[in-house]
Amino acid sequence: MHQLILARYGEVGLKGKNRRMFENRLIRRMEEAMTGLPLKKISRTYGRIYVTMTGQVEAALHRLSHVFGLVAVSPAVGVPLDMAAIKAAAVKEMKAAAAEGYTTFKVETRRPNKAFPYKSPQVSREVGAEILKEITGLTVDVHLPQVVLQIELRRHQAYLYWRQLSCPGGLPLGVSGRSVLLLSGGIDSPVAGWMAMSRGLEIVPVYFHSFPFTSDRAQQKVVDLCRVLARYSGLIKLYIIPFTSIQTALREGGQERLQTIFMRRMMMRLAARVAEKEAAEALVTGESLGQVASQTVSGLAATEAVVNLPVLRPLIGLDKQQIMDRAKEIGTYNISIRPYDDCCTVFVPRHPEIHPDPVIVAEQETGLVAPRLIEEALADAETLFITTDWEGS
Ligand code: ATP
Ligand code: MG
Repeated sequence: MHQLILARYGEVGLKGKNRRMFENRLIRRMEEAMTGLPLKKISRTYGRIYVTMTGQVEAALHRLSHVFGLVAVSPAVGVPLDMAAIKAAAVKEMKAAAAEGYTTFKVETRRPNKAFPYKSPQVSREVGAEILKEITGLTVDVHLPQVVLQIELRRHQAYLYWRQLSCPGGLPLGVSGRSVLLLSGGIDSPVAGWMAMSRGLEIVPVYFHSFPFTSDRAQQKVVDLCRVLARYSGLIKLYIIPFTSIQTALREGGQERLQTIFMRRMMMRLAARVAEKEAAEALVTGESLGQVASQTVSGLAATEAVVNLPVLRPLIGLDKQQIMDRAKEIGTYNISIRPYDDCCTVFVPRHPEIHPDPVIVAEQETGLVAPRLIEEALADAETLFITTDWEGS
């Protein structure tokens, strides 16, 4: 049985003097992801991380396939640097592949350990011949094999593997600092959060809840979205900020065309306050360009004008179909499409302003929301700590 997992990570971004820090962070994230599984140790050599388990290798593979910074993981076997041992292990591995119905293979060998007496092509050839001799029903296909048996001749051992799960790539979470994610129950913002995380940026999600205009089920959606995002991030701290009184105050001021912009600006201000508290250095939203009336360049400008933090919009150049495809891959799509209104659909103006002038917006907005309402909303914010249960993932 496999007890070893070989993890590969991208070289990009891991070079230079930050490399050690990146690797340490990655390993820490791997350990976190495997909480509760029987992990024995994690070790590394150049470009490779080895994970030794005392059981539950499949579960470990699944969890590791959610760790940013990793490119791929494979169950592997390690054997002494000895041709007979390598051949025996190779035959055993390929018997397992044949039992799964695979019929064509090739062997690929790497020899970072130049002290090993046989060169890579010779190892591949000899091991391939042994497999053909021992297993009927397998043939070699060097161009399009169904199975590629990889052999790596390292300093202390030879490693063999052929199954591979792909991981999300990107950078280890945390290397780019921390951000506040404005997370609605929609399709876009969870994807935006995922993309920010993929560049090493931690997220602290904030959800503005407009009860009773939006139901508790809308809030539950956001919690469930966080549960999915937590597969990639580990523990999530979600802020739920009551938004009803602010929204009501905005609406009482009339100015229907500017309602969406007003609301976004209030969200930005509140999110910036959370950022301050959480030592976050950026805000992340699920806005794209041109998707809805408020997401024109001038709409985005009027929105972000009220904060000093950079506002990151990872979806800016994606269209809806691309965002939906990504949401399906991540696992958030089915939650996002549950039919409960968000506060923006409830309050959406019939004729929204498409090219708001920030100066006019600021003028019109003045005095609409008493500062006291903002302080109350922040004081009444709830925080939830959310982990994933790995069920249905
Ligand atoms: P989403 O699918 O993420 O809701 P959207 O395309 O529906 O995005 P809007 O509803 O206009 O766009 O919202 C734009 C962005 O504002 C969202 O992506 C999100 O970042 C933020 N946002 C909107 N409503 C909320 C909310 N209730 N709580 C937190 N953030 C919100
Ligand atoms: Mg929305």
